[in-house]
Amino acid sequence: RAKAEGKDTYRYFEASMGAETRDRRAMEHDLRQAVARGEFRLVYQPQKEISSGKMIGFEALIRWHHPERGNIPPSVFIPVAEDSGGIAQIGEWVLATACEEAARWKNPLTIAVNVSAVQLHNPNFSRKVHEILLRTGLAPGRLELEVTETALIKDMPRALATLRQVKALGVRVAMDDFGTGYSSLSNLRAFPFDKIKIDGSFIKSVDRNGQVAAIVRAVLGLGRGLGLPVLAEGVETLDELRFLDAEDCEIGQGYYLGRPGPIETFSELTGVAAPPASDRVGSRGGSI
Ligand code: C2E
Ligand code: MG
Ligand code: MG
Ligand code: MG
Repeated sequence: RAKAEGKDTYRYFEASMGAETRDRRAMEHDLRQAVARGEFRLVYQPQKEISSGKMIGFEALIRWHHPERGNIPPSVFIPVAEDSGGIAQIGEWVLATACEEAARWKNPLTIAVNVSAVQLHNPNFSRKVHEILLRTGLAPGRLELEVTETALIKDMPRALATLRQVKALGVRVAMDDFGTGYSSLSNLRAFPFDKIKIDGSFIKSVDRNGQVAAIVRAVLGLGRGLGLPVLAEGVETLDELRFLDAEDCEIGQGYYLGRPGPIETFSELTGVAAPPASDRVGSRGGSI
């Protein structure tokens, strides 16, 4: 079922060239109204300490349920929102919603939020983050912003200034999708990251592929040398997890450790109970 929905989604872009542009316009238009119409929600994916299995926190991941087109994945609509300027409003909604949510958990778990290039290059970004922390009462140390290398390159001095400002608030910053962007090594030195997230493409079959294993070992060595904990994304099997544990990778995230789901899925950890069924919007059960 999820697969079928994914296919429908891409029809936004398929068909003839003319239709492609029109569909993109239509998506830009729909995205501008989606926050106000309550079409977005967040799902949460566990991040765990590998050696102990202990829960550290969650990454918030946005989901869009389009009233006619169904579920559209972020890999499709986030780039469109970035190009059309809609990402500012969406990004603020994500940040505010995730912080509000985390502030009511019974355990002080961390909440990781993805931040796009456009947000990072907005000189008001850190003020917005500060405002949201004050309003929600979330301890700044529980918030971690995930930034990809690609988000840094448009205007590096500007991006650096923003990261320094949010760090001054006590917020932490993780380099997302490490290994897939540009000039990774100099970025690690130039920017004040607190964590490295190895991209999932390097974790797939890491236990069985010598080349991939060599890359992952090198990144772990880099993390150790720089004093930065490393999180492995996309852990899908026990064998991958065993490899990472044997190599002393600190943190893991992936389907094997926990799929993204609505926050009620994790009520034992958060103390957040499911609302009565009638209050739930778009609840489909299971994971997403
Ligand atoms: P990301 O930040 O690297 O997030 C990890 C992606 O990997 C998520 O896809 C997650 O569902 C998926 N994933 C987790 N575990 C596994 C696994 O074991 N195997 C595989 N194959 N995949 C796994 P998702 O939710 O579709 O998000 C895709 C990307 O969209 C994210 O990559 C992030 O770059 C972007 N994104 C998601 N939510 C937001 C948001 O709120 N704001 C912004 N700016 N970008 C977002
Ligand atoms: Mg991320
Ligand atoms: Mg990632
Ligand atoms: Mg990614």
